[in-house]
This record gives sequence, C-alpha cells and structure tokens, in this order.
Amino acid sequence: MILRTMVEIIKGDITTLKVDAIVNAANTTLLGGGGVDGAIHRAAGPRLQAECAMAGGCPTGSAKLTEGYSLPARFVIHAVGPVWSGGDQHEDELLASCYRTAMRLAEEHRIDSIAFPCISTGVYRFPFERACGIALAEIFRALDEGSRVKQVYCVCFSDADYETYQEVLTTFG
Ligand code: ADP
Repeated sequence: MILRTMVEIIKGDITTLKVDAIVNAANTTLLGGGGVDGAIHRAAGPRLQAECAMAGGCPTGSAKLTEGYSLPARFVIHAVGPVWSGGDQHEDELLASCYRTAMRLAEEHRIDSIAFPCISTGVYRFPFERACGIALAEIFRALDEGSRVKQVYCVCFSDADYETYQEVLTTFG
C-alpha cells in the first residue's frame, strides 16, 4: 500500500515536470529524435545535445544520465527501449531492463523523484498495455527492494493512454 502511494499515473508533457529526473525514450545514438526525445531536446536546449554527443551512444535496454540544462528537471536519464518486432526478440526483457537501469541510476545519483514516459510505445510500437505492466512491475520491484526514490510519475501523453495505464495499475496488489 505504501508503495502504491509512491507511484502516480499522470497525463501531460514530461518536459514541464519539476522533478529530480525525467526519463527520455531515446535511441541508441542518443543524438535526439522525434516524439518525447525531440520534445526533451527542444526544452533542454543545445547543451543537452552536446553532452549526449560525448556519451558515445547507449545499447538497447540500457540508460545514461545527463544534466537537464534548461529543463525544470535536474537530470535526464536517456533510456533506449526496444523496437517492437512481434515479441520474440527479447522485447519484454529489454524494456524491463530500461526501467531497472533508470531506477539504478536514480539510486546512484540520489534522486528522490523521477518521471517516466511510456518508453517504446510511440514510434517503437510496443503494445501499450503490455508496456505498462512491465513498467509497473519493475518500478514496484525497485521500490520493494528499498530504493531511495520517494516519488515516481508515469506520464501519459493522451487520455486513452492514461485510462489504460490506470487500469493496469489496478491489477497490481
Ligand atoms: P519510442 O521511440 O520509445 O516509442 P516515442 O517518443 O515515439 O518513443 O513515444 C514514447 C511515448 O512518449 C509515447 O507514448 C508518446 O505518446 C509519448 N510522448 C510523446 N511526447 C511526449 C511528451 N512531451 N511528454 C510525455 N510523453 C510524450
């Protein structure tokens, strides 16, 4: 029950959130793209792009942390989700690994509040409900294991996504 109160599904633009870290749904180059990645880079300004260019890319299923620059958030955790290819290319494990790595980075950087977009559910076409289940399972696992993170926001960009995410949340005890 305590864990449940630490995780909130919200609707909105992740770039506006004043949290310690927002998570980006990045690609392996970390050099920016469309969707939430483009929005984060636009809001953070060119210094984010410069730091990302130094990072040397990031493998699928992993994540790297940068400063937030002009964002209200102090840090950006760039997580690289899998492209959905039917489900037999380790997509579930790779998506889970994104959330696990992001929560580990949050721990290492003494982050209290973190906001996740719905990684891989846009251009990468991961089935939305399935992605929500994986996201929540990993977030609850990290909190259960004693993460110092106090507040987690799962940010939806549409009403339909918000409704679905809330429904999936009710299936977690
Ligand atoms: P991916 O390539 O990982 O699928 P996308 O950016 O295409 O990444 O989509 C990931 C999710 O982010 C989608 O659910 C999309 O609706 C959502 N999204 C897009 N822009 C924003 C934003 N500014 N804030 C929060 N979520 C966003």
